[in-house]
Amino acid sequence: MPLNIIICGAGIGGLSAAGFLRAKHNVTVLERGELDFTVNDYGLSVVSNSFNLLERAGIKTENLDTVVMTHVWQRGPNNEELKTMHFDTRARFGGAPSVLVKRALLQKELLRFATGAEFSGAPAKIVQNAKVTKVDPAAGKVWTEDGQVFEGDLIVGADGIHSVVRAAVLGEDITASIKTHDTLTFMAQLSVEDLKSDPGFAYLSDPTTQAGLCSAHANSGPRVNKRILTYHTSPRSLQVVGYTSEKEFSEKFDSAKTAIIRDVPVSRVVEDFGPEFAEGFVNLFRHSQIDAWRIRDVAPLSTWFSGKALLIGDAAHAVTPHAGQGCNVTIEDAEAIGYLLKDVESLDSIPEVLQKFMTMRKDRVAFVARRSHELGNIATEEEKSKEPITPELFARTIYTYQGAEKALSGQMPPAMRPS
Ligand SMILES: Cc1cc2nc3c(=O)[nH]c(=O)nc-3n(C[C@H](O)[C@H](O)[C@H](O)COP(=O)(O)OP(=O)(O)OC[C@H]3O[C@@H](n4cnc5c(N)ncnc54)[C@H](O)[C@@H]3O)c2cc1C
Repeated sequence: MPLNIIICGAGIGGLSAAGFLRAKHNVTVLERGELDFTVNDYGLSVVSNSFNLLERAGIKTENLDTVVMTHVWQRGPNNEELKTMHFDTRARFGGAPSVLVKRALLQKELLRFATGAEFSGAPAKIVQNAKVTKVDPAAGKVWTEDGQVFEGDLIVGADGIHSVVRAAVLGEDITASIKTHDTLTFMAQLSVEDLKSDPGFAYLSDPTTQAGLCSAHANSGPRVNKRILTYHTSPRSLQVVGYTSEKEFSEKFDSAKTAIIRDVPVSRVVEDFGPEFAEGFVNLFRHSQIDAWRIRDVAPLSTWFSGKALLIGDAAHAVTPHAGQGCNVTIEDAEAIGYLLKDVESLDSIPEVLQKFMTMRKDRVAFVARRSHELGNIATEEEKSKEPITPELFARTIYTYQGAEKALSGQMPPAMRPS
């Protein structure tokens, strides 16, 4: 039976969910802002576990201006080679490629998935400038800032880390579950052309033949937070990300109630990274505006649903970016809820579906959160008491995912069930 579904948030999770759900249901998406795909924003790794689901659903790679990941480079602080690894999820796992893409282009293609006439089901209705201010999970009602009221059989909270729907589901303050880790990233963009003057970066300068992510730790080694990551975001561009302590910025983040401080002077980044990293690495930050992003995640929640409201994506389980999986597990969520609701026969069966969704997703997401903490050197005491997740176990568990149907039928490697 077709349900009336209200999705709060038209980010990666909201638009993916709209695409997967519209085949069988009537979907309305409420977005607080306007969908603007012209911004030259940050890059995302869309790895085989979710790219596989998107390709099968009809997302077109040619609309995404991607590069295919082929390598992961580990370098020392002087850009000396430590380890060069092939990263080819097609060859290794016989599945989809893993790609790097600009977020806005992915979102634009997901909007086509949600609203294009070429996909099955009625196009989702997208309501822009509709900021959700209040949700009643029991009644299935949503209020927006401009006074509109929407009612549905199901409310999907895909409204990101500061989720209004999460606050309603848990009956808590919006920020209550958000955790900081004394970590920020300085983030800047550069072009492949910018690298050409430094032969030390030849390995990054032709993403059409080899592309991926380069990670360099300060001399003090991988047990400290300071590191520089450089990765392609299109066939012409890269992003550089410097992880460091947020101490000096934390008051500004708190008082401005923001997670992004724009236009940090390059001298500040040089001061932080210059003593430990070669000039070549530090120079990567000199080609664009530098923004400081506060690294946060959402602590494990007691539940992801209440009444007629369900949380997905960052609203339910934002993870730190160290394992590059935030948007990937979000897309997995969207496919899973589409699959679980496809044959729903009565409104009475919805609570059971929501429970099934959380049961099937929560261990997998906890596994990603733990790996992200381990990679970021921010593991909790409880996480430290467990055997660390090896790169091999992580790859096998995460990159081989084939969607909800196979996950539910038990067609997953044993490692799929993390301790
Ligand atoms: C710097 C950075 C780098 C990252 N890199 C990677 C990566 O390489 N790989 C990866 O997998 N993940 C990465 N992530 C994580 C990834 O971006 C998120 O996990 C993903 O965007 C989550 O999608 P979402 O739809 O749940 O939330 P969001 O993308 O935050 O979308 C939420 C949407 O809801 C809207 N919204 C919010 N509040 C309201 C409201 N009250 N009413 C209506 N609408 C509302 C917002 O405007 C937005 O459109 C990165 C994140 C950051 C910050």
